[in-house]
Amino acid sequence: MESTVYKSTGSWYIVKNNRGEVFNARIKGKFKLDGITSTNPIAVGDIVEIENEEDSSNVIITEIYERRNYINRVSPHNKNQHHIVAANLDQSLLFATLKEPKTSLGFIDRFLVISEAYHVPAIVVFNKSDLFGKKEQDKFELVKDIYSRIGYQVISMSLQDNSGVEEVRSLLKDKITLLSGHSGVGKSTFINYLFPSMNLRTQDVSGWSGKGLHTTTFAEMFDLEFGGRIIDTPGIREMGLVDISKQELAHYFPEMRAVMNDCQFNNCMHLEEPGCAVKAGVNNGTIHEERYLSYLNILDTINKKSY
Ligand code: GDP
Ligand code: ZN
Repeated sequence: MESTVYKSTGSWYIVKNNRGEVFNARIKGKFKLDGITSTNPIAVGDIVEIENEEDSSNVIITEIYERRNYINRVSPHNKNQHHIVAANLDQSLLFATLKEPKTSLGFIDRFLVISEAYHVPAIVVFNKSDLFGKKEQDKFELVKDIYSRIGYQVISMSLQDNSGVEEVRSLLKDKITLLSGHSGVGKSTFINYLFPSMNLRTQDVSGWSGKGLHTTTFAEMFDLEFGGRIIDTPGIREMGLVDISKQELAHYFPEMRAVMNDCQFNNCMHLEEPGCAVKAGVNNGTIHEERYLSYLNILDTINKKSY
């Protein structure tokens, strides 16, 4: 029966079938997907086929259906191996803050590049708007302007005074959404807002794996009562820039992608080359300088391969 993977710890999985029944599942034998070298053959969000295991209430995953998309990162244990964080996403939502703590635009741009590379539409939510003074409000308007021109949705909200929260919640309806953000931005507070009747973090500690907090670095999917699902990625601070080459990086900046065909050289890296349409865009203000700086920074990271 067709089922969806809700949690994975590497050797065990939690799956839910179309009738809403939940099982512990494992893989039988070797399981390899064509073309992907990954430490985990099956990830949260995967659609799989399951069979009953003899003499057990557990099930066996016998088949995995082709993924619409997936998000990768470098394995925490081995830099040469990839780890699939989640699959079959409709969108990804990044929590950011302008104060306590401050999210850098560079961090946001890396997230957006990764979302572009994996073909997952991205939304940026600035939480803690209750802390905004004039300075932060101006900054928010600027950032919103930069990103909405490129086509990204940018919203502000406050979980403290509840402004904008319903708008964000409504964006989740009937979608599979990956939630990300560095620690302190309010991701847990938001998840607890979505599930007022249970404290997810507490539930995790006493959860089925019995290993307590150490296991919370695994991504997990949750059903929303009003329709839709979220995938939480506790402990994953940042997706890696896996699989992105220097040559293709500019493609993942939509405003650069839009003009780069006009560069004089078709292998233009948009650095010091003559006749570069991207540099021209930066100079005439159609491409924001901050975004171009992020491009240079990410290029540097790829050069050093230190991600
Ligand atoms: P996480 O690390 O992203 O899961 O962040 P938490 O949800 O644990 O929140 C970090 C801190 O920010 C906690 O002390 C929250 O109470 C606080 N916080 C969350 N949302 C807001 C908000 O909208 N405004 C303010 N002022 N504080 C918030
Ligand atoms: Zn160029």
